[in-house]
Amino acid sequence: MKALLLLVVILAGVWLWRSRAAPLAPPTKPSSPPEAKPPQEMVMCAHCGMHIPGNEVVTGKQGVYCSQDHLHQSET
Ligand SMILES: [Zn+2]
Repeated sequence: MKALLLLVVILAGVWLWRSRAAPLAPPTKPSSPPEAKPPQEMVMCAHCGMHIPGNEVVTGKQGVYCSQDHLHQSET
């Protein structure tokens, strides 16, 4: 009788362990560090064709430019 009880306890333990472990998704690796800088996008000046980093462009109505000068020369 003791052996049967032990078997039931073990089976219950295994069932509990499996029902807990099953729904868990495998641990996902962080794809990339969140603070990693994205590669700088290069944008072409609509006036002279020079490539400049996207954060340094001057945005006009008809496009983006490398400088205020080219914006004015193109759009006026
Ligand atoms: Zn330019």
